Amino acid sequence: MTNFNVINPYPFVYHFRDPQGVCFSIIKGAKKSLVVDCGYGIFNIREIIEKYIDTPYDVICTHGHMDHSSGAFWFDKVYIPLLDEELYIKHNGVEKRTKNVIDAEKKGLIDESFDKEKYINMPLANYELINNGTIFDLGDMTVEVIPMEGHTKGSIGLFIKEHKLLFTGDAAISMIWMFLEESTDKETYINMLKRVMKIDFTHYITGHLMTVFEKEIFNHYLEVALEATPQNSERVTFQNFERPNTFQYTKKFGDLNIGICYQEPKE
Ligand SMILES: [Zn+2]
Repeated sequence: MTNFNVINPYPFVYHFRDPQGVCFSIIKGAKKSLVVDCGYGIFNIREIIEKYIDTPYDVICTHGHMDHSSGAFWFDKVYIPLLDEELYIKHNGVEKRTKNVIDAEKKGLIDESFDKEKYINMPLANYELINNGTIFDLGDMTVEVIPMEGHTKGSIGLFIKEHKLLFTGDAAISMIWMFLEESTDKETYINMLKRVMKIDFTHYITGHLMTVFEKEIFNHYLEVALEATPQNSERVTFQNFERPNTFQYTKKFGDLNIGICYQEPKE
């Protein structure tokens, strides 16, 4: 498990970060467990996960992006949010997989022993679409699928009512990417934040950081999203994600840098 970090912030949660900076988690139930997200698939995360789980388990992707869903082929089946089906298919195609390999190579994460052709041409993994409101009964706790549209149209959160804990994937995160083709407009994201803040959770875990955040941070996400305008933001561009009229607005809250990357006008 070289270069994989893991934290165990609750007795029933293992949260991992892979060498590419992407997280996946295990919610360990008495009768059943859930795996949240499955990385780029460059590494065999099934092998890692199964060292921690002693029950049957389901795998759920928080959204269709390749860094959260391209590892699906390691598993027998994954759940994909209904509205991200098209995105999941696109992000598991040859074009994205080729970029994933180039990126992993640049970072020195793979060597000659890695079968690039096999990874790039991997057929689409077996998947089932999942609806908002679906509840997984893990025996000693339940996990509900919560709509968290914005970053992508189909993004979901996973809410453990009994422990007031929410998994947000990339849908609520310190630097939210809202400029992508598959992102909603800023207004929709803002309304999602307001709606999700009404849910009775106290803490949440995101898709790229090894921190358990307090719910209050959602107020900062909201503030940043409401304040950002092209006048107070910096024009930015990201390699492999180039989009016209992309802006970044960042604000410091204590030690935390909270920001939003968005497109205006939204195309
Ligand atoms: Zn994403």
